[in-house]
Amino acid sequence: MTETTTNAGVAHGLYTEGDEIADTKAPDVPIDEVWNRRQFDAALVNPANRRKLSVIIVGTGLAGASAAATLGEAGYNVSTFCFQDTPRRAHSIAAQGGINAAKNYKEDGDSVYRLFYDTVKGGDYRSRETNVYRLAEVSENIIDQCVAQGVPFAREYGGLLDNRSFGGVQVSRTFYARGQTGQQLLIGAYQALERQVAAGTVTQYSRHEMLELVVVDGRARGIIARDLVTGEIETHLGDAVVLASGGYGNVFFLSTNAMGSNVTASWRAHRKGAYMANPCYTQIHPTCIPVSGDHQSKLTLMSESLRNDGRIWVPKNRDDCDKDPREIPEEDRDYYLERIYPSFGNLVPRDIASRQAKYVCDEGRGVGPMVGDFRRGVYLDFADAIERMGRSTVENKYGNLFDMYERITGENPYEVPMRIYPAVHYVMGGLWVDYDLQSTIPGLYVTGEANFSDHGANRLGASALMQGLADGYFVLPSTIRDYLAKGPFEPLADDDPAVAEARTAVEERTARLLAINGERSVDSFHKELGHIMWEYVGMERTEEGLLKAIDLIRGLREEFWRNVRVLGAADTLNQSLEKAGRVADFLELGELMAIDALHRRESCGGHFRAESQTEDGEAMRRDDEFLYVAAWEFTGGDGDGEMGRPVLHKEDLVYTAIELKQRSYK
Ligand SMILES: Cc1cc2nc3c(=O)[nH]c(=O)nc-3n(C[C@H](O)[C@H](O)[C@H](O)COP(=O)(O)OP(=O)(O)OC[C@H]3O[C@@H](n4cnc5c(N)ncnc54)[C@H](O)[C@@H]3O)c2cc1C
Repeated sequence: MTETTTNAGVAHGLYTEGDEIADTKAPDVPIDEVWNRRQFDAALVNPANRRKLSVIIVGTGLAGASAAATLGEAGYNVSTFCFQDTPRRAHSIAAQGGINAAKNYKEDGDSVYRLFYDTVKGGDYRSRETNVYRLAEVSENIIDQCVAQGVPFAREYGGLLDNRSFGGVQVSRTFYARGQTGQQLLIGAYQALERQVAAGTVTQYSRHEMLELVVVDGRARGIIARDLVTGEIETHLGDAVVLASGGYGNVFFLSTNAMGSNVTASWRAHRKGAYMANPCYTQIHPTCIPVSGDHQSKLTLMSESLRNDGRIWVPKNRDDCDKDPREIPEEDRDYYLERIYPSFGNLVPRDIASRQAKYVCDEGRGVGPMVGDFRRGVYLDFADAIERMGRSTVENKYGNLFDMYERITGENPYEVPMRIYPAVHYVMGGLWVDYDLQSTIPGLYVTGEANFSDHGANRLGASALMQGLADGYFVLPSTIRDYLAKGPFEPLADDDPAVAEARTAVEERTARLLAINGERSVDSFHKELGHIMWEYVGMERTEEGLLKAIDLIRGLREEFWRNVRVLGAADTLNQSLEKAGRVADFLELGELMAIDALHRRESCGGHFRAESQTEDGEAMRRDDEFLYVAAWEFTGGDGDGEMGRPVLHKEDLVYTAIELKQRSYK
């Protein structure tokens, strides 16, 4: 085993340590009773009082639309915000492979406990046990809810709902709608949402971007948003605010996320007092179409479901790497995942599959075009599957994914193996929340990918949709009432000092961005930041690289505020301005991600510190030192100047229902 070097001295210059933090909402009862008890204990709001209570929901992807529909149905007065022209364009629509649930329809040994166990193990024992158990319990209800809405899940010949397998598990528990599961689920949630819009309980604001959180007397009381069409800055006030604003993987510039996904809503809340948890935990997905050059602004995922039937390999000999793969005989191929992990094979979790792909390419056995000094690709081969099941069965299961691959690469994957390589895909980090999904700002709740979620240091496939919908349809509606029961809170006027200050801050920042009038485009800064993040805060992190990243990000941020060129005006549609605000926030987030990665001198899940690995190159956790969630507090500073040193608050992770082990998928 390799020992980690100690960097405490260095790290102490970058952050300070504060009091511990703990969840205080999960009742102290056996794990399978916690959720029932919490629902019972949470205060109720009389139906007649609900319409007097207003909830602002930022984000109408799966997590936000499901929450808004449910709270609207319950009778609360809800406003929703999204920056797209319709909730149906949220990034959730891109989800391909499926959604997990512990239904055990295949009778293959699944259960609530097994889903809970797989998720905690998959997350490398860095998630909160009570939350994950609840997620597994609630998973069953999600499928019933969506079927009742008419979501067209795939069915078997006899008409029953079908399942397939995803990485890190040995049962089939993934419900799917071809390769368009997110789209179908979002249409279900959207219909439920629009029903409430028609019923008058939900007011919907599309093409509006939240640019500031309003905090009055320590409580979240509203948002400042920009109408993206007219440029008008608006104030929206309420009794509670929910952020369902998605993940921040686009800090890497190239990712599989929708182009618009960003961190602004979460980061603005962080700056107002919401702690950011485990920001460095990033998921790098093994099955993406490889980068093909310098011109790209987006990467494409090939769903993990393909690993059910596709076999991953590279040539055994470097000399074969540029040959037509069909001409490489079986004995000269290395099915390296099947070789190293015989029990999970091609279905090992994403972090492991990604790292192994990197290793074989680093050894010079990658395939496809040279990118720099290496070929960055491995084969995902369906020849065996086509021979076993026939082309039409493969087409039925994965047809749209194969079409997408062919459109992008010009190669026919029925004939030639696909080429894949890891890419940034999802973030496990996000705003810290307690068991009720409430952040460290009272009245501010966070759901879906925006919270630090239930996935620890690595998310298992098909679990993000499960978590977003669990949060929105079932968890938040039961917990937020405990807070709302204390309301309605004092009415606020738009000229209340705290409200006016938030609004002025947005106006001044917008004016500053437009006034710089420098020489570099917003995109060029974003691209350079992404390069730094991928190089030093990506798949493998080292102390030296992370320190370098922090320096580089600081320099880039300083240049951004001096030299960025933001075209156009404030009072009109201005996408350059929109992007500039988002990139400015990414430039602050990137530094915190690097500090978080630097301080965590262990490898766990997607966070791989080269200094902490076993002899055979697997992640080596250090439970003695790092069995905690890192929740970071913002301490001031503005993007263009020096930032305050963030304060680290640790939440100890206590496992009572599960034994802590070193992960093994062999
Ligand atoms: C290509 C791809 C495929 C995937 N496939 C799967 C899969 O098969 N199974 C699975 O479980 N997971 C999958 N995932 C992950 C999953 O899709 C996401 O984690 C999930 O959809 C996130 O949902 P969300 O509701 O939290 O956020 P999003 O869907 O990202 O929605 C965010 C919402 O917030 C709004 N918003 C953000 N900021 C602001 C702001 N400042 N002001 C106003 N509105 C704002 C946006 O307009 C949007 O409405 C996939 C991810 C990718 C990239």
